[in-house]
Amino acid sequence: MSNLYRLLPSVDSLLGDLSDDGAYQSLPRAFIRELINDFLVLCREEIKAGVITDKGELNYSRLRTRLDAYLKTHTRPHFRRVINATGVIIHTNLGRSILNRKAAEAVWEACLHYSNLEFSLDTGKRGSRYSHVEELLCRITGAEAGLVVNNNASAVLIILDTLAKGREVIVSRGQLVEIGGSFRIPDVMTKSGAVLKEVGATNRTHVKDYEEAISSQTGALLKVHTSNYRIIGFHKEVSLKDLVKIGEGHSLPVIEDMGSGNFFDFAAHGYHFMPEPTVQQVVKDGVSVVSFSGDKLLGGPQAGIIAGKKEYIDRIKKNPMNRAVRIDKMTLAALESTLRFYLDPNVAMREIPTLRMITMKSEELGKAARKLRNRIRKNIKYEVQLSIFPAHSRVGGGSFPEQDLPTHVVGIKSSLLNSEQLRDRLLQTDPPLIGRIENDFFCLDPRTVEEGEYKILCDALNQAFEKAGN
Ligand SMILES: *Cc1c(COP(=O)(O)O)cnc(C)c1O
Repeated sequence: MSNLYRLLPSVDSLLGDLSDDGAYQSLPRAFIRELINDFLVLCREEIKAGVITDKGELNYSRLRTRLDAYLKTHTRPHFRRVINATGVIIHTNLGRSILNRKAAEAVWEACLHYSNLEFSLDTGKRGSRYSHVEELLCRITGAEAGLVVNNNASAVLIILDTLAKGREVIVSRGQLVEIGGSFRIPDVMTKSGAVLKEVGATNRTHVKDYEEAISSQTGALLKVHTSNYRIIGFHKEVSLKDLVKIGEGHSLPVIEDMGSGNFFDFAAHGYHFMPEPTVQQVVKDGVSVVSFSGDKLLGGPQAGIIAGKKEYIDRIKKNPMNRAVRIDKMTLAALESTLRFYLDPNVAMREIPTLRMITMKSEELGKAARKLRNRIRKNIKYEVQLSIFPAHSRVGGGSFPEQDLPTHVVGIKSSLLNSEQLRDRLLQTDPPLIGRIENDFFCLDPRTVEEGEYKILCDALNQAFEKAGN
């Protein structure tokens, strides 16, 4: 074993070799030195643990290959692109919605150049960053006023803080949900300084439950969209319209947290998913203030959108907390650009990737699956079995929770790696490729993969099989 340690080259000799290599020229020398040192520590640990037992493994060319791979993983960006072949469209862990190219270009402009972010080109004086989207938002939703903040969680927080701090907010027990990532309605309520007043039962809440709970302490009525779960069977919820009636009777604002706010009327376009209200409908039903995410069904950037009656929105705008949750200029650029597509729903359906992927037809996906299979067959250098079978994609992001979207997936099987091994290997490829296992096949759903990505997808597969194949 001690002989093996002596075979390891010194930091300086490796550093000297790397200095001649163009690939490392742009990296700070001190940083590379540290990485080489860490790499050699790792090798010593492997010798000690009996992982490296053979002189051959320490010969220069093998060691150098390993060092190159080590440096590559430690010098590339940590936050990077992946290929989403899971078929989950609004994949919370993979960045939720992806943007239309025009929206991305708007972000590019906003970062590379100065802008009229808070400058009025009419007066030459200070302007408001909210002016860029408020009118558009009102036009699309029919609301009197609007405001955008960092995300929907902060939207809910600032609404409650403004309208109900120190007072009771009445919520149905069936709507006290946890969204994931620690967003729980009761906890948000506590943080905002509002006092939660639960009414009804988990499965049934009636108008009289709300009526009986209203007192001089009441600040607002809150309806929460139960995004990620659904009660079926014997249940009853009070409709927004009825809540608005109750609110009006007692001069109380009615707030709705819509979660995944949606502008697009799927049913009107022939997509009969489980009924989900549109923001337009909620505004029409008379909500005082509604809030929703920018990057769920809307298909834009991460943002919290607040729309509703001017008297309430004006108060929210003046809340000092607004500064703490404000939207940044890159997001604003992407959001304005995304919202513009909604001026024509057909354009929105075509241009906004999230909507396009949700509305893809099964035949189109069958065709895409065959194309993808053929591309893999042509490019893969290893022995694999490829099949196509029907499966289901999901909308994700807590939207249309139980809705299965029929699709066709390309399944890969190989004697070189089982599907779990393949899945794990693909996490380390460049770019990583994320799929899912079904019927013992590693499956790729073309719904969330663009045709332009097929080439790098094939490259990733080859990389994954590389070690297994030789
Ligand atoms: C997703 C969701 C939120 C949180 O929205 P973010 O934009 O992720 O902050 C809040 N409420 C509901 C009902 C949701 O579905």
